[in-house]
Amino acid sequence: MIPYGKHTIDDDDVAAVTNVLKNAFLTQGRQVPVFEKALCDFTGAKHAVAVNSGTSGLHLACIAAGVSKGDIVWTSPNSFAASANCALYCGGSVDFVDIDPLTRNLSVDALTRKLQEAERLERLPKALVLVHFSGSSCDMKAISQLTGHYGITLIEDAAHALGAKDAAGNWVGGCQFSDMMVTSFHPVKSITTAEGGAVLTNDKSLADNIRLHASHGITKQPEQFSESERQQPWFYAQQSLGLNYRLSDLHAALGISQLKKLHNFVEARREKARIYQDALASLPVKLPLFDANSAWHLYVIELTEHDRTAVFNLLRSKGVGVNVHYIPIYHHSYYKKLGFSSSDYPCCEKYYANALTLPLYPALTADMQVEVINILHEVLS
Ligand SMILES: *Cc1c(COP(=O)(O)O)cnc(C)c1O
Repeated sequence: MIPYGKHTIDDDDVAAVTNVLKNAFLTQGRQVPVFEKALCDFTGAKHAVAVNSGTSGLHLACIAAGVSKGDIVWTSPNSFAASANCALYCGGSVDFVDIDPLTRNLSVDALTRKLQEAERLERLPKALVLVHFSGSSCDMKAISQLTGHYGITLIEDAAHALGAKDAAGNWVGGCQFSDMMVTSFHPVKSITTAEGGAVLTNDKSLADNIRLHASHGITKQPEQFSESERQQPWFYAQQSLGLNYRLSDLHAALGISQLKKLHNFVEARREKARIYQDALASLPVKLPLFDANSAWHLYVIELTEHDRTAVFNLLRSKGVGVNVHYIPIYHHSYYKKLGFSSSDYPCCEKYYANALTLPLYPALTADMQVEVINILHEVLS
């Protein structure tokens, strides 16, 4: 089966990890700060905190945004559940903004209308978690004008978008328009650390808060101790109820090695997306908008004439590991119980009914891609 996504690990990556195993600290050593610095250098962000997953990063971003009981967080329903779960971890509640049928990202028009309504009802969200679906940046300028106007913290879920640029040509993660950006290093994402993630920001107080909560809420910085605590040389101070969301040095070493290849990975994905775009143009499918700045995490077509389940099963039986991104978050039984209704998100529903993710990753060979294309022609012509 040709999978929809897959990591690329080479000898350098293996050497980077074995080096740490043989020579250094396994955790809380020097690799994590080097990885964090490299993430800042790549994106232009002032601060990066490496964590043990993208999900942890989203949780920490919501903590840093001050989300707590009574607060509402809005996000896109066309995402992995972690984009919404992070608000619930903090005791907040979630609501969704329908998507734009062309970009499949959160719709700026729907957001504008929902904000006006929420202001009237005095139910404005505390934070907005944007998802750069498939690696294509949301309209950051327009959205940040809205969140700025209403005083809403803007968090980017850029799990798909490390290595992408926004429409203004800024690297996603530079946080030119947002308060924080969260990314993931799960094996299917732009680069991998096996499990891992990071939170990026230009705001030092947010970065300090995230770092504190990623490590038990404990600080070892004597300047933050009381006078009597400072007299005790063994002292460390728990200042807040934190978690253990740290990334290990083994994972960070893999991240450092992978990050050097990010440009090549994204370039390879873009090239293959271009090939699909040409090769599938004659089929009865709606192709993704071609965003040359996208990191191309996913390549999703929408069937316009065929039954999705039948095509899904047929392609799987022929060895093409198609997938569906995403089951709208409000479809999950956990969210249904919270009272969400599909009829509130007509664009997301329409998209979800016909969406199909095709294999796309740097190690997908030309032969494999031709095979996928030929099978698609056979099944859909
Ligand atoms: C992968 C992903 C996450 C979660 O990242 P993990 O590192 O797997 O915890 C969150 N949001 C989106 C959109 C993702 O694709």
